[in-house]
Amino acid sequence: MNNKEELIFDCVILGSGPAGFSAGIYAARGNIKTAILDINMFGGQPSNYFEIENYPGFSQIEGFELMEKFERHADKFGVQKFPMVEIEKINLNSELKEIETKDKIFKSKTVIISTGAQAKKLNIKGEEEFKGRGVSYCAVCDGAFYKDKTVAVIGGGNSALEEALYLTKFAKKVYIIHRREGLRADRLVCQRASQNEKLEFILCAIPVEIKGSNTVEKLLLKDLKTDSVKELDVDGVFPYIGLSANTCYFNGQLKQTNDGFIETDINMQTSIEGVYAAGDVRNTPLRQVVTAASDGAIAANSAVKYLENKLLSVTAES
Ligand code: NAP
Repeated sequence: MNNKEELIFDCVILGSGPAGFSAGIYAARGNIKTAILDINMFGGQPSNYFEIENYPGFSQIEGFELMEKFERHADKFGVQKFPMVEIEKINLNSELKEIETKDKIFKSKTVIISTGAQAKKLNIKGEEEFKGRGVSYCAVCDGAFYKDKTVAVIGGGNSALEEALYLTKFAKKVYIIHRREGLRADRLVCQRASQNEKLEFILCAIPVEIKGSNTVEKLLLKDLKTDSVKELDVDGVFPYIGLSANTCYFNGQLKQTNDGFIETDINMQTSIEGVYAAGDVRNTPLRQVVTAASDGAIAANSAVKYLENKLLSVTAES
């Protein structure tokens, strides 16, 4: 017998980054009964960003602080919050969508997926073995362990360069390893990186193996111009080579791109009626706090309209 508590909502939001909280604010202000669930603590990826300086209205703010402000704002409108849930299965195909956790079943007429994305792995020898012992995907979390040490950051995008700059606060030397001559990061960030004396670029090279005893000691790099492999002495390796969408719970229920991001229309509607996607998890040309927040607002507005058209709101019924 199933003893799980059943909870019914108009809108369940999965994921509590900027897209999720923005959706929560707009849904609750649209007067629909709204819950926000996260498998982790609230705040999503930006909670781990040292500084954000391109969210309008805040020329410089810590990621954690900005996400706390998002959360307080959603609290003001009465969004019900469920952090650290253990999701067991999700069925999006019925009229009343079901999200089953370890101890609850959430039933909802609409679902907004804002589960974000996570760091891609290098998939090289030693990466898994030294995870937490020199291999880290979060400079803000682990940077302080590298005081006066030498680290390598992999990638040429905004994340790689911004996190490399952050690591220079602790490390005595930071290598940025990038696979081609041109960088992908914004010009301003590239300029700052090129002016930082602790940073050294190694271009047209890829990591092929991470070596060490207890912790990381060496990174093997392949020079893509000569095919030769050289050893670099490092104490830490921080891969920042892009993101993959967090969609493992949906088991092919939704239309996704070849690399896994959820397809939506301009209203954030996915391939299933009543199910929306917002933020980094969806197929979008720009992944920023501001675009995620915008997606969340559009998704919630679409959910409210969908419920109005169907006269489905719990609030309307009661
Ligand atoms: P990204 O922009 O996709 O950059 C990934 C980088 O890793 C690229 O330089 C790529 O090289 C390299 N790369 C990919 N696969 C690789 C592999 N197997 N081996 C070696 N190198 C590899 O990812 P991101 O920097 O994580 O950023 C993700 C999104 O968040 C972007 O839209 C970014 O603008 C945004 N973001 C914005 C900010 C900000 O505005 N403050 C901060 C962080 C992130 P190629 O260039 O050759 O493809």
